Amino acid sequence: MSQTPQASRPLPQGAELIALKDDASLEVPSFPAVGYIEGDGIGPDIWHAARLVLDSAVERAYGGARGVKWYELLAGEKAFGQTGEYLPESTVADIRALKVAIKGPLTTPVGGGFRSINVALRQILDLYACIRPVRYIPGVPSPVQRPDLVDMVIFRENTEDVYAGIEWAAGSAEAKKLIAFMREELGTKLSPEAAIGIKPMSKFGSQRLIRRALDYALARGRESVTLVHKGNIQKFTEGAFKEWGYDLARQEYAGRWVSEGEEIAQGQVVLKDRIADNMFQQALLRPQEFAVLATPNLNGDYLSDALAAQVGGLGMAPGANIGDSAAVFEATHGSAPKYAGQDKVNPGSVILSGAMLLEHLGWPEAAEKIAPALSRAIEAGEVTYDLARQIPGAREVPCSVFAARVAEQL
Ligand code: NAD
Repeated sequence: MSQTPQASRPLPQGAELIALKDDASLEVPSFPAVGYIEGDGIGPDIWHAARLVLDSAVERAYGGARGVKWYELLAGEKAFGQTGEYLPESTVADIRALKVAIKGPLTTPVGGGFRSINVALRQILDLYACIRPVRYIPGVPSPVQRPDLVDMVIFRENTEDVYAGIEWAAGSAEAKKLIAFMREELGTKLSPEAAIGIKPMSKFGSQRLIRRALDYALARGRESVTLVHKGNIQKFTEGAFKEWGYDLARQEYAGRWVSEGEEIAQGQVVLKDRIADNMFQQALLRPQEFAVLATPNLNGDYLSDALAAQVGGLGMAPGANIGDSAAVFEATHGSAPKYAGQDKVNPGSVILSGAMLLEHLGWPEAAEKIAPALSRAIEAGEVTYDLARQIPGAREVPCSVFAARVAEQL
């Protein structure tokens, strides 16, 4: 087993650190210390609501034989207030030590030296896979006729692509220098006025993401993995993503995958590909034909939100950012500052992210109780404002009351 770094503060009483085994899987004690970042704006409200549901699910599943020992991590405005930094180094170090954490939404500081604390966390901890399961929860209002046909898990590459943040403003010295270099050395015609952004995508970065998607599909018996790309136009980045995906399957998954149209046997997965624009259409028209999607960063960003909307909105969409040595689960919406402290908004996204966290710990008995309980609570008709205004006859209750109703349904 690898050497485990220590947390910066004493662990809660009775807690132990999760360890990383040599094969990169987790060794989870019965009472693991797990990090949480409350988040800004509505973060504290939804986190407290989610914590109640998560602790109740674990209690129901294991009757006190297991439990999560929550360990607070500072980030965002709360961290700034206490330490003068939005993302203190101790928080990053603690996530490395704890290996698993959950976070509420963080407001992007204006002029705080960060593009986004979320993006910084992903990059510093090399959380290269953004995983978004998109599944319909009965009772949730949806804009399409058959939201129940959607059951997809998106694996979005999280560190490369135009998100790498390599760009220069129009007219800047750097942009001009690059444009001159491209014209003189590469013979590329570009307007000297252009802003410039760079889209780096590597074989290593693409394949480690696609490997996670394939492993996930095979471990869970999901029928297909679809490589979503824009390779018809961006041949050497998006097109290469697709080719590297098939190369990986040929090299590392012999006997465990087939191409689209071939007969599939037990223990195999179909590997297919779709151009991104076509994928958006098919996700609406034939969602039942897709199980796991592997995408580069930008297309995955768009697709994740579009699919979340298809099953009833971002307020309920869970997510995780996972690397080889740490995983951070998160509500996928923002900090909705106008509702801060009002005990009003829907805690569904962070609750379902917590269910993913419990699954990641290898505690499926607790994890699997959560989505059905959420669904039953919604169907019982006492819901937060966002759902109440869409469900005829539903009654609006505060965030904390809704969470209590979910916990009762576990
Ligand atoms: P937002 O997601 O905070 O809000 C968009 C809309 O959705 C608002 O009308 C809001 O009231 C509503 N909403 C959000 N969460 C809800 C919930 N749980 N229940 C009911 N309604 C909900 O997006 P924004 O306004 O663009 O961003 C606000 C801040 O959050 C910004 O600083 C942004 O950078 C940050 N942000 C953070 C994350 C993250 O931490 N992962 C993600 C997106 C945005």
